[in-house]
Amino acid sequence: MERLAKVAIAFLLVFTLIGGQSTYAEATVVTVDTNVLNMRSGPGLTYEVIDSLKRGDQVTVLSSSGDWLQVQSGNKTGWVAQWLTAKKREGTAHASMIVSQVNSLNVRAEPSIGSAILARMSAGDEAVMTDQKDDWIRVSFKGVSGWVHEDYIAEVAETDVGNASKEETGAETFTVAVDALNVRKEADLSSKRIELIHKNETYTVLKTNGNWVQISLTGGQVGWVYAFHGNLNAASGSSQENPSAKQVTVLSDGTNIREAATTSSQVVHRANAGEQFAIIKEAGDWYEVTLSTGATAFVAKWVVSTDGTEPMREKSEPKKARVPGTLQGVTVVIDPGHGGNDRGTTGKRGTDEKNITLLTSELLASKLKAAGATVHLTRESDEYVTLRKRVAVSHQYTADAFISIHYDATIDPSVSGFTTYYTHHSHQALADAVNRGLGAALSIRNRGAQPADYFVLRENRQNAILLELGFLSNPLEERIVTTERFREQATHGIYNGLLQYFNDSLD
Ligand SMILES: [Zn+2]
Repeated sequence: MERLAKVAIAFLLVFTLIGGQSTYAEATVVTVDTNVLNMRSGPGLTYEVIDSLKRGDQVTVLSSSGDWLQVQSGNKTGWVAQWLTAKKREGTAHASMIVSQVNSLNVRAEPSIGSAILARMSAGDEAVMTDQKDDWIRVSFKGVSGWVHEDYIAEVAETDVGNASKEETGAETFTVAVDALNVRKEADLSSKRIELIHKNETYTVLKTNGNWVQISLTGGQVGWVYAFHGNLNAASGSSQENPSAKQVTVLSDGTNIREAATTSSQVVHRANAGEQFAIIKEAGDWYEVTLSTGATAFVAKWVVSTDGTEPMREKSEPKKARVPGTLQGVTVVIDPGHGGNDRGTTGKRGTDEKNITLLTSELLASKLKAAGATVHLTRESDEYVTLRKRVAVSHQYTADAFISIHYDATIDPSVSGFTTYYTHHSHQALADAVNRGLGAALSIRNRGAQPADYFVLRENRQNAILLELGFLSNPLEERIVTTERFREQATHGIYNGLLQYFNDSLD
């Protein structure tokens, strides 16, 4: 007995020394570091879910077992996955990361073109984001603090990956979400780069370590990538061990279940929020599922959850039935770009982008409401709203369409026209429809519907597009697009595009 105790103490000491942060003293407070965290009756994924915690919730640790923590939340006691929690560290906020999308990205002394160049980032280089001013992001890169232009970077969230650790989702593959991503020898930003991988490439996950994922590269090589720059995906097929990932939960009423894995295919069933279907396999952005009739069909990944997350829609707002020729039963979240300290771009004639995005959004909201749509705005005044919050509003209302409104700028004052952006291929149909509506309503140049990597689109589960309604850096165009007449035409065009899109989806 005594000897065993000594061994145990010795083991504990060693564990404390090498394990460092893995030890949890009793009464330690940890913070939930994922959107939804299941509290279970025992220390493992097979135990029953007894409660659900939200990001930011703080719980007190009572004991631990392996990677699991027994915690107390209010008067409830249960077990949570330690890797989805964060220990409170005073004075150190999590840093957001950015990743350069281009080679030779200038890191400048001041947030302006023409200021001194302190360093250059290559495509795939990561840096810690420390500040933001207009279109400029202050970064800390290799010990240099300077400014990079937001057009050339992708912003990445610090906490998203928590929801997708290998253990919780059974993630077996990692798909790159940014244009270029460094693979490193060790799980550390300062470690040697061994390869550059690219958007939409998928790699096998070997293990995870904090925010890092170890992947296997071609040629038997192994390396680490920063997990926020991609998506961890559950394995397809029967190797799946996590039972909760074997079925999908529909997030909103009227979700289309289709014959084939494309939005243009026949709708075979319209599912309501909370309905669940067993997953047969994955097919790109779609799941093949089994219906209650025994037939198989396809549902888009972006309209379902696989972690058993309940629909987040407000219960007080049941969706109305859709009526052809109107927008009744359609929920639209309009996102007026910028606001508060973030003025957006400023026109040659002095227009602040943040002001006309709000005016345009308000007018669009009134038109859509008049047509029967349920409309929410991500801001209704001149206030600063984070990009993450904007996406959260889209999710909260399970928007059928999320529309971010912006006005453009570039260095060349002769560049003109409007552009409709989308990030996920599955959102292209909405982008095309709205772009056609705008094209028919506006006389300025149509730059078309184009893919681009914007945070509010990339992180959005809902059908999401971003509109750049003309260039404020072009003095002629600034004069046109700041008029009430232009806003009337543009919002009418957007409305027509939406009407066409949602009518088509009723067929
Ligand atoms: Zn903007």
